[in-house]
Amino acid sequence: MTQPDPRTLAAALWPQQTPSFDRGLPLDRRQTADVVIVGAGYSGLSAALHLAERGLAVAIIEADRPGGGASGRNAAGWCPIYFDKSPADVVRLLGTERGGALNRMVAESARLVPALVQKHAMPVDMRQSGIAVVSEAPGSAADQRKLAQGWNDAGGNVAFLGSDALHAIMDSRRAAHGLLFRDAGTLNPFAYAVGLARAAVAAGARLFMGDPARRMTETPGGWLVETAHGSVAARHVLIATEGYEANATLWPGLERTHYRLPFAMVASAPVPEFAARIMPAGIPLTDTNKGNPFWIMADPDGRLVASLLPPLGDGATAAQVAQPLERKLRRLFGDVPAFDWSQFWIGTVAVSAERIPRLLALAPRVHAIGGYSGQGIGAATAAGREYAKLVADDDRAACRLPVLDPRPLPLRRAVPFLFRNVAAPLGRATDRSYRAAPKVTVAD
Ligand SMILES: Cc1cc2nc3c(=O)[nH]c(=O)nc-3n(C[C@H](O)[C@H](O)[C@H](O)COP(=O)(O)OP(=O)(O)OC[C@H]3O[C@@H](n4cnc5c(N)ncnc54)[C@H](O)[C@@H]3O)c2cc1C
Repeated sequence: MTQPDPRTLAAALWPQQTPSFDRGLPLDRRQTADVVIVGAGYSGLSAALHLAERGLAVAIIEADRPGGGASGRNAAGWCPIYFDKSPADVVRLLGTERGGALNRMVAESARLVPALVQKHAMPVDMRQSGIAVVSEAPGSAADQRKLAQGWNDAGGNVAFLGSDALHAIMDSRRAAHGLLFRDAGTLNPFAYAVGLARAAVAAGARLFMGDPARRMTETPGGWLVETAHGSVAARHVLIATEGYEANATLWPGLERTHYRLPFAMVASAPVPEFAARIMPAGIPLTDTNKGNPFWIMADPDGRLVASLLPPLGDGATAAQVAQPLERKLRRLFGDVPAFDWSQFWIGTVAVSAERIPRLLALAPRVHAIGGYSGQGIGAATAAGREYAKLVADDDRAACRLPVLDPRPLPLRRAVPFLFRNVAAPLGRATDRSYRAAPKVTVAD
């Protein structure tokens, strides 16, 4: 079988395991709504669901299909953390009240995802197993304990694991310690987007798909959002396109508010015995290595699914892309089987200036939502709900998402280029993680 272009949704594992949403409407005339949402990923769909549940008339315009962007091709683990910040950093950034509110929103998002899955009976292969964030450096134990405390103070459910406790969930003595985010877990991310779409439509939202929004103009009563074939007039507009903007003319300059960084994903043919050996409690693993980060989980069939730094160039095969991962697995777990990396795809992670979830205030009653920087399954679900509070209650204080002014980022083209062509190859080539990790025991 020829491998599809890895940048397309067709290359991702998840849409192959679940049917696409099939109840979208064509937008072929002028429609009206209270709120028009552009983009049917978790942000837009969660906002639509929670607005429709509050009785507002909602129209969603989606260029492709629900889950057509990052939501359909990500690494499948929801974990209530920030990309590179602690709860204390966020309090320093936003102040005690707003920072604390955002920390609580993120901590609670780990329980919001399974609550929605259960409430709407979504078939998403959800496993609320917890996620372990492991660390190879014994010196960082004090920082990790502080981090766990910060999340627990925000309402999270995080345990510090010394090396013995960690060994029970990871068949290796190479890591020094870790954090267990107990409320976290995995699901089929594309199926979750489809499930949110179904729930939003069942609550009364109208979902128009297959035609991108191209233009917005202000009208006396609000805004008119146009596609090639129709339009929606609404008082409020939410742009929920993040790193997958189909049309830079919709809100010129919005694409300058984040860097678009490629990440690779690989999935193996099923290796259930190996998966059960290395992760005996069925808990996925990720690590704090910044140069060559590691995420590995097993899907319900025992396939290993991992996220990796992107390959140099576009012609790489799945096996070539997975080589650094295999080396890391060998260092950690000793013997590894001969893997058949059957799937390889590349997704775009939108990394924002602040690297926290936020709304950007673009104009009166026009917002852009995002900022998750690779941690969006829970955060985008929660952020969509906060936006619904902002609009439905007309109460900025009720919304735990910070509302910020858009800020253009410098070197917007250079940074992704340097990431893919310099930082990623360097990170892979120089990664010595776990090679000489001391086998120490840190008291629990
Ligand atoms: C490889 C990868 C791995 C990741 N791993 C994880 C993970 O393990 N855990 C985690 O929590 N997060 C992860 N993320 C991040 C997470 O997937 C995103 O933060 C989240 O999906 C963002 O959702 P969204 O709704 O904001 O954007 P998206 O899901 O990208 O949705 C945007 C939508 O807008 C549509 N659109 C764009 N332009 C237009 C237009 N002009 N008109 C109409 N529609 C338009 C697109 O088609 C798309 O459907 C990962 C991301 C990637 C790429």
